[in-house]
Amino acid sequence: MARSKSSEAWLRRHIRDPYVRDAKTKGYRSRAAFKILEIARRDRLARAGAVAVDLGAAPGGWSQALAGQVGPRGRIIAVDLLEMAPIPGVTPIRGDFRDAAVRSRIGGLLPEGKADLVVSDMAPNLSGVGATDQARSLQLCELALEFAAAHLKPSGALLVKAFQGAGYPGFLAAMRKVFVEVASRKPQASRGSSSEMYLVGKGLKTGLLS
Ligand code: SAM
Repeated sequence: MARSKSSEAWLRRHIRDPYVRDAKTKGYRSRAAFKILEIARRDRLARAGAVAVDLGAAPGGWSQALAGQVGPRGRIIAVDLLEMAPIPGVTPIRGDFRDAAVRSRIGGLLPEGKADLVVSDMAPNLSGVGATDQARSLQLCELALEFAAAHLKPSGALLVKAFQGAGYPGFLAAMRKVFVEVASRKPQASRGSSSEMYLVGKGLKTGLLS
């Protein structure tokens, strides 16, 4: 079957992408691993022994990178709609994060219901309708923020991928209501052509959502 021009362009870009090659060499399941490695180093997100929740974890690049950073005393709970092959130190949960029962199952797996770090790289399946895709993506961001506000330790942090566009300034404002410090990061492995941005919130303001 003939390939479309856009899928040929994607394939060419994928083959030439140094992060794709590097991920293969280093045994990461996705090039996305380099995004979290850069942000976690810069913002000191994952210390040894930490408990982290990885939302939208499949195929597992972020979970692999985090598992390496938290070490054998740490723990990662990895959530995705899709099945994920096992990673040592990572507890997979297959389910839809929009489902309250899934969120309460994750909370139940955390020691005393609390985590040091929540990360979200969740991205909805694209419908091709920009406004719909942006609204779905923001819904996932808002749920991740709500979960983080309820389940982070006071010194904890949230890293969340959000797409710039309608609703983005409002989400940024919501992050600022929950966290003492909020920073935007565009790691080198994030394509310049993508509107994705990674927001880091640190230090919970007290007396909120939990
Ligand atoms: N961070 C991953 C890595 O390093 O390999 C890549 C994540 S990928 C960009 C986005 C993931 O979000 C997909 O695997 C998708 O299945 C997941 N996802 C989208 N909507 C979700 C939802 N409602 N609940 C759980 N996972 C979801």
